[in-house]
Amino acid sequence: MTADSVIGVIGGSGFYSLLDESEQRAVDTPYGTPSDAITLGTLAGRDVAFVPRHGADHRFPPHLVPYRANLWALRSLGVRQLVSLSAVGSLTTSLPTGTLVVPDQVVDRTSGRAHTFFDGPTGVGHATFADPYCPRGRAAAVAAGGAHDAGTLVVINGPRFSSRAESLEFQTHRWSIIGMTGMPEATLARELALCYTTLALVTDLDAGVEAGEGVTHAEVLATFAANLPKLRDLLVGTLSRLPASQADCSCGDASWLPPSFVLP
Ligand SMILES: [Zn+2]
Repeated sequence: MTADSVIGVIGGSGFYSLLDESEQRAVDTPYGTPSDAITLGTLAGRDVAFVPRHGADHRFPPHLVPYRANLWALRSLGVRQLVSLSAVGSLTTSLPTGTLVVPDQVVDRTSGRAHTFFDGPTGVGHATFADPYCPRGRAAAVAAGGAHDAGTLVVINGPRFSSRAESLEFQTHRWSIIGMTGMPEATLARELALCYTTLALVTDLDAGVEAGEGVTHAEVLATFAANLPKLRDLLVGTLSRLPASQADCSCGDASWLPPSFVLP
């Protein structure tokens, strides 16, 4: 394997069992410890480094996930391409429960999270973020089949779900799906010059989309479990189609970073 051929995967703990010949690696970073030990293994013939976003015991709610430590740790292990798995709500009946989505845009409605690496003595870099997701990663995921190509993900702070009025506002903007963990993950990936692709699974319709009781956590968990095989298939199909390395992808352009900011 070459130095940058390890593919990072961030997702739920349901993905441990996917990895062949896995080993655990405890990693520390200048931004603290990741959500859990990193699992190194292979999947779809690719070297993979997996971190469970919420910790193996699910101890980190969306607003407390150590996003910076997770991405820094993965990059320090050689990761340059990253695939993020996420359960989301749908803001439109055209993306019903069980739909897989490869978003192409993101809106940040989070607050109070450590959302940048540039808050220390290393100076600031202003990341280009017009297209938050890696074009090659998205193309690989779409080519894998079975997923809806494109969509805007709005990320809320949680851990509560939306009010009906909030959900209606998001629909008015024609945003497609809603989650709690996509930011600052996407920003931080760009700041570390990583290729970043999100594979989202619709587990519910957001509060204002249909008349009813709104989202419950039990509903989300049950739908996620029922659709896990589909998400696994999409992950495997995406991994097998990702380029051999990040070479020449625009996401890997680090020329804009301040000179004193040294990538791991
Ligand atoms: Zn890329």
